[in-house]
Order: sequence, then C-alpha cells, then structure tokens
Amino acid sequence: MASLNIAGVLKPAAKGHGGAHVAHHKNTSAMPVERMPVPASVTIPLSQHIGAPNEAQVKVGDEVKVGQVIGSTDAFVSAPVHATISGTVKAIKPVRIVNGNMVNAVVIESDGEMALSEDVKPPVIETKQDFLNAVRASGLVGLGGAGFPTHVKLAFKEDAGVDTLIINAAECEPYITVDHREMLEHPQDILSGIKEVVKWLGFKNAYIGIEDNKADAFQMLLKTMEENEEFKDVAQLICLPSTYPQGAEKVLIYSATGRQVPPGKLPSDVGCVVMNVQSVSFLGRYLKTGKPLVSRSLTVDGSAVAEPKNLRAPLGTMYSDILEYCGGFKEEPYKIMAGGPMMGIATIDAEVPLLKNNNAITCLAKGSVKVKPTRACIRCGRCVEACPMCLEPTLIEKKAHLKDVDGLNKASVMTCMECGSCAFACPSGRPLVQYMRLGKAIIREAGAKK
Ligand code: SF4
Ligand code: SF4
Repeated sequence: MASLNIAGVLKPAAKGHGGAHVAHHKNTSAMPVERMPVPASVTIPLSQHIGAPNEAQVKVGDEVKVGQVIGSTDAFVSAPVHATISGTVKAIKPVRIVNGNMVNAVVIESDGEMALSEDVKPPVIETKQDFLNAVRASGLVGLGGAGFPTHVKLAFKEDAGVDTLIINAAECEPYITVDHREMLEHPQDILSGIKEVVKWLGFKNAYIGIEDNKADAFQMLLKTMEENEEFKDVAQLICLPSTYPQGAEKVLIYSATGRQVPPGKLPSDVGCVVMNVQSVSFLGRYLKTGKPLVSRSLTVDGSAVAEPKNLRAPLGTMYSDILEYCGGFKEEPYKIMAGGPMMGIATIDAEVPLLKNNNAITCLAKGSVKVKPTRACIRCGRCVEACPMCLEPTLIEKKAHLKDVDGLNKASVMTCMECGSCAFACPSGRPLVQYMRLGKAIIREAGAKK
C-alpha cells in the first residue's frame, strides 16, 4: 500500500493486481514548465482526436489569429481545432503524424505577433448543455490518453448512476513530469476546473489520485484548498502506490473506489468518469478566459536529449523544433517516442507535429534501450502475475498464433490496455504486447467480415 502518510489524504480503496516496478527516471520533476519561443511555422493536423475528422475552415492565403477555429465538423464525436499561432495559412496538405497515419493539416507561417482572435471570450454558461457545448468548443480531448473528446465523455445520461469524478494525476509513466508540475504550478486551475465539472454534472464524489512519489503535489493541493474558501472540500486526495500502470483508467478506478469495470464496459457503467489532471486544469483556465486548446505542456527527456525540459509549446510545433530548443541530441537517438517508454509510440523521425494528446517526447540512446533476445516461453507465469487486468498473456499469444477468434474472445484480449507490464516481466523477451495487438486485430477483422 501507499507509503506516504499525510493528514487529510485517503488511502486507496483497493489494491490492484500485478503491475511493474519500473525505474521512474523523473529527472525533470524540479524543472518548471518553460514557454517555448514561437516557432517560425506550425503544422496543425485537422483531426487530433478519436472520432469524425474535421474539415478545414480556412484556405491557403488566409490570415489567422490565435484561437480561431481552423477545422470543425457537425459530428458529435469530434473536437474542433484552432490556430495556435497568428500568421498566414501557407498550405493545407496531408502530413504524417506520430502513429504513421497521414492526416490533413493546416500549415501556418508565424507573423511573430501571437495576436488573439476576437472570438476568444469566456463562455456564458447557464445550463448543463451550455457547459457541454463550451467544453466541445474548447477543442478539449483527453490530454493524457488516446485523444477522446472530453464533451463526449461528460455527456452521460442523468439516470446512468454516474456519481464519481476521478482526476488522474498518477503520472506513472517513466520520465514524464508535466502532471506533477501542473499540480505545483497551477493548483488553483485544477481545483477550479474540478469545481465546475462537479457543479454542472452533479458528481457526488471527486477524487484526485496521485502516486506517493509526489509528496510536494499533495502538500500544494491541500494548502490551496485550505487557504481558499472557494476550493474547500472540492476534492479528496488519494495516495496511490507508485506501481506502473497506476494511471491506467480501470486500474485507477479500482484503486480509488474498489469498483471493477467489467470487460467490454466503460467507466460510466460503474458510475465513474476519469479525467486527466491537465485536462481539468485546462478547463479551469478556459472557463475563465475562453482561450481554447492551442498549446500544451510536455516533458522532453531521455538519454539522447542534450537539455531535458518541461515545456509549453503551441500545438502543431514540429518535434524537430522542440528538440532543437532542447539543445538537440547529445547521443544519436535509437528511439524517438511520443509519450513515455512504456506506452509511447515510436516515430520514424522527428518530422512530426505536436498533437493535443502528446504529453512527452522521449528520446533514448542505444545504450539505454534493453532489447531482450526472444526465447521460448518457459511457462513461468510472470506475465500472468504482472497483468493488472488479470489476463493470461501467454495464452493470448498462442490464440493469436492460431488466429483462434473464439479463443481470443474467451481470453478477453479486448480488455488488454497494452500497458506492457507482461512484456516487461517476461524473462524470455516474448513480444507479448505485439501479440495482444495482433489478437485484437484478428477479432476486429473477423467482426468486419461478419
Ligand atoms: S496483457 Fe495487456 S493489460 Fe495485461 S499486462 Fe500485458 S499489455 Fe498490460
Ligand atoms: S512471462 Fe514469458 S516466459 Fe513466462 S509464461 Fe509469460 S510468456 Fe512465458
């Protein structure tokens, strides 16, 4: 169980299964977030979310200002994108993003002004629907995850029995420290965002789950609640053990409430909504200023980076510009990843733009990437012990080899969150996460054929 003992902080409601004790490498946790100088140009993908793609609302040659909508659609499951710098639209063209997909993007050349659009004003909110509309208009998607539009997550039915808001501030991925910095630098925005979400959506409970390796973040949030009457009792803090993947949605829900999300079900099915701490902090600011999601904080670290930093950069800034601002590479990078080393996506090169859900760029030199030789499974069961979802990765590997759709379904492969704990634990270097992905692809393909 969690080792910190701070007055007013709750212990976890339940202790989850498995997980991995990975080295934390939180090298940048004492580094305040620096604002990066405005780049000469940005490349803003029109779709940075799960859901319907946006259509361009500008054309080549247009002058744009910060916060102006440049991509939108009427589809519900979507989120608009905004100009993140002021200047001239130089191109609208397909570009490669971190996962290798080609996405239409708007290229803006900076005029150096960062002039704010006249459309940027605080939203007027009188009803729950006004609130949800404002969240949509802000362009917010989960800032720590897969990019699911936040207004969709918050649009649960009133009779659905959803009573608990959980703020994910665990930040269990190695290297990444921007959530930690957000709690130290912007506690009022976080608490203000939580207060508004609770007020408009009627949650009975609000928790902030933080790992026990962030003692100063607990102190900062407690102090802010104590010293500001408006934030008194806005949320309860929960001290979570620093075990990877404590910040995975289903793991966090179990630790915070003891509720288990069944396979194939959503957090709202057990009465919970989980929001990332950066997302709720952004909402706190947005509701006061009306400035949509045009920049984000990220950690740039890893053994290949010359000057690791926490940064705030305009969305659409190229990784190459960000890395140059961090002094370039001190060693040739073996891997450049969007995100951390456990769940991050490796990119081919640094010529990809910063997206809404990119919380880190991790660049590892060859010497720090351990590539285990792949050997036969020795049936040691360590992967089963490590899996926080109580799956049997070794069984799923076999079913994936056999393309056994029924077997894969029975083994609940779709419940796998691709956290990598099983592969981390495997002494035989089995590529278990790849088999999980293959298993899911086999099921999806079979479903599409039906
Ligand atoms: S099977 Fe999936 S959820 Fe379980 S440890 Fe492996 S990657 Fe994580
Ligand atoms: S941890 Fe690796 S070697 Fe052990 S049972 Fe799982 S797949 Fe086999």
